[in-house]
Amino acid sequence: MSLRPTLMRWIAAIIAIAMVAIAAHGLGAQRAEDVARAKAESDLALLADNFRVTVDKFQQTPVLLAANAKVMALLDGVPDAATVDAANRYLEMTAERLGAAQLFVMRPDGLTIAASHWRGPDSLVGQNYSFRPYFREALASGSGTFYGVGVTTGLPGYFLSSDIRDNGRLVGVAVVKIDLVPLEDLLARRSVPVLIADGDGVVILASDPALKYRPLRELTEQQKIHIAAERRFARHELGPPLSPRDLKIKSPVEVVSRVLPIAEGGTNWSIVTYLPAEDMADSARFAALLAALVALAGILGATIFAMRRRHLAEERAAKRNLEARVEMRTIELRRAYQELAGEITERKRIDRQLHQTRDDLAQAAKLAAMGQAFSGLAHEINQPLMALKTYLASLGKLVERQDSQGIASSLAVMNETVERMSELTNSLRRLARKADRRIEPVDLADLVRQVAGLLKFRLADIGASLQIEGLSSVVVAGDPNRLQQVILNLVMNAMDAVTDVDRKEIRISLSQEGGLARLAVRDTGKGIAPEVSNRLGEPFFTTKDVGKGLGLGLAISHAIVAEHAGNLVHESDPVGGAIFVVSLPTEPARGIMMTERPHAAE
Ligand code: ADP
Repeated sequence: MSLRPTLMRWIAAIIAIAMVAIAAHGLGAQRAEDVARAKAESDLALLADNFRVTVDKFQQTPVLLAANAKVMALLDGVPDAATVDAANRYLEMTAERLGAAQLFVMRPDGLTIAASHWRGPDSLVGQNYSFRPYFREALASGSGTFYGVGVTTGLPGYFLSSDIRDNGRLVGVAVVKIDLVPLEDLLARRSVPVLIADGDGVVILASDPALKYRPLRELTEQQKIHIAAERRFARHELGPPLSPRDLKIKSPVEVVSRVLPIAEGGTNWSIVTYLPAEDMADSARFAALLAALVALAGILGATIFAMRRRHLAEERAAKRNLEARVEMRTIELRRAYQELAGEITERKRIDRQLHQTRDDLAQAAKLAAMGQAFSGLAHEINQPLMALKTYLASLGKLVERQDSQGIASSLAVMNETVERMSELTNSLRRLARKADRRIEPVDLADLVRQVAGLLKFRLADIGASLQIEGLSSVVVAGDPNRLQQVILNLVMNAMDAVTDVDRKEIRISLSQEGGLARLAVRDTGKGIAPEVSNRLGEPFFTTKDVGKGLGLGLAISHAIVAEHAGNLVHESDPVGGAIFVVSLPTEPARGIMMTERPHAAE
């Protein structure tokens, strides 16, 4: 992978993370605001309910007061002191029982003539509240509501009023003032500022007293005049509009407002709280950070996943490749094996054929040698026969002469002659027989002596001498017939070699050295010409005249020696003539096993 695509990929990843973070920031801010807003709204709803319950409890109180006999008595002309006293005590007791801040009765001109708080310097009795809206509304419509700070007591409260009529004639107004201080205590428990503002947007109840009597927004001049006229806040001065600093919230505030649903006549009061924007910004930042981390983890996860997948794919491909190669190699090996098996079968077949051919050739060569030998043989047999004939003739004369010593001597010579003839025929028989391969201890010296005996007459014929030297016994393991044939071939070749030379000497020497038996046939013939030296041992290679040589003797001899795990070499004798050397192992088991194996397999 080159650097460029990797860099591009990382840039894309960073852009993606940034975009996710920005989106999460936006969503986080929105979500944080939604959650905070929902929480604030439910808090405000709870507070509003609380307010409503407090007010509802006193909703009917002015109406009931208006129907009370003691109150009615007050308004029937000018009351006497006892009637006023009775009314004051009644109002005092009722206010206490109901938990109302004030209960009082006014005349149609606005003068208070009886009140629950009639004792002490703060007594309402004798005060005129005709400027208060609850009084005016009661005169105008039968009932009225008003929030205001007590002009006399200085305590804030909510006023509910009802007109008092005697047979339809307006005779006065009954008023109940509800204490809002407990509600303010509830607001004060909030951790964020909570305010209740009246219809003009002036704070009348607040979680923090410092925020009270201050408008949420700038008031119009008309509003200010109106508020002053009804002495809504009594002694309290109106403060400047609220600022974020007053609310002790650093960033610009979000306002959540809700109109308080107050019964009959209603009110357009609002209950207000603030959401700290910095908290929401924190949440948004946290959401952005979280989203960025999640995105980063996602990208890293995806990268790792992709890398892992690529790695797995590469591994699979490599495995497939390897399997394919193994399969291909297996096919090749199978083919090679089949070819080899075919070759081995073919080789075995050829080997069998070769052995067969060799055996046949050996037999043919033997027959040829025999044929060659026959002419000499006739002569060789003829000679002793002639000798026997001569001895028999002389034997007759010796019998006539009764020369017993002469008879014994002649018979001994005849016997020896017959023995020699039978030995000759035995050797011929052995040679003619196609040999069964037998492995047995064979004394090479014995074989040499047998060959010498076999060729005695032919040697005499050509006037050659045969000398045997060296060890008188060298034992190897092998087939005596086949080994004898090797020696016979070598000696007959030597005889051929010396036929046309003056010095006709053949020497066979036997020796043994380091596990090898060595048999050398040396002659005084013309030797071997260098140009034919390489070809000796080739089947049918001969330098002899037609009818004299088949060119099989050395080929067969090589094969037989090889069967016996030995070898046959030739060289020229430095003093003239040729030397053929047969080496055979004297450790029988190894050599024989090696050479016997092919036959065993047949
Ligand atoms: P053949 O004797 O029928 O020719 P051989 O295989 O026995 O077949 O011999 C092959 C050839 O080797 C001979 O024709 C001859 O030329 C050569 N040869 C074998 N022995 C001798 C030897 N002792 N001296 C010289 N040449 C030899």
